[in-house]
Amino acid sequence: MIKVQGVNKFFGPLHVLKDIHLNVDSGEKVVVIGPSGSGKSTLIRCMNLLETPSTGQIVVDGVDITAPKAPITKVRESVAMVFQQFNLYPHKTVLENLTLAPTRIKKISRDEASESGLAFLERVGLREKADAYPAQLSGGQQQRVAIARALNMRPTVMLFDEPTSALDPEMIQEVLDVMVDLAKEGITMVVVTHEMGFAKQVADQVIFMDGGTILEKGSPEHFFTNPEHDRTKLFLSRIL
Ligand code: ADP
Ligand code: MG
Repeated sequence: MIKVQGVNKFFGPLHVLKDIHLNVDSGEKVVVIGPSGSGKSTLIRCMNLLETPSTGQIVVDGVDITAPKAPITKVRESVAMVFQQFNLYPHKTVLENLTLAPTRIKKISRDEASESGLAFLERVGLREKADAYPAQLSGGQQQRVAIARALNMRPTVMLFDEPTSALDPEMIQEVLDVMVDLAKEGITMVVVTHEMGFAKQVADQVIFMDGGTILEKGSPEHFFTNPEHDRTKLFLSRIL
């Protein structure tokens, strides 16, 4: 589903992704861990063209998104992103947040987008908040709305960038529960998170990034029981 081949990313003189190679199969769940500044966000932002790789190739669902004439809008339709800070539209209701992109970008009718939107709100346990505004919701509820909004685009890939890092501790689990539920379906997920319980429960593959490279990859068990590199061990000892 996702093929990252020899990707480098520079911000001016700063070399933040260094020859990244990564394959994600259809339906696979990949968790990305690593210290702050190691390039995790930049890597997943390249997967939906929020950033453009400086060199290398990324193919998503058979489409070379790094080609000069890549269909950016199409890529963003099929590869959805959930951010640390939710990024809901503050002046739109919850349901309007869910219907905006499908009606404007995918040209789906308002009725159809509302109907599926309500179904996804139901799924994240927030059907009764359809007419509320984001500021009236807790952080955990806002993030569940953001997940429902992403789902309402019917993406083939879901990217999550530290989706629980901005939440108060008591709200983390409600968001993780929604993500675990989602993971049981066929959707392909790439999740930057330090929630190792989540990784253990759903990840097929865990990737440890350090200094712009993928230093180590393997199953969650590998990371819990037998990490290879000292830097990985040190990092895990700090978060576990
Ligand atoms: P992580 O998500 O692992 O914390 P990031 O991918 O956000 O790491 O950042 C990797 C490096 O790239 C950091 O040194 C960061 O400061 C730098 N960086 C990220 N985005 C930009 C940008 N838009 N402009 C310049 N430097 C950036
Ligand atoms: Mg980040």
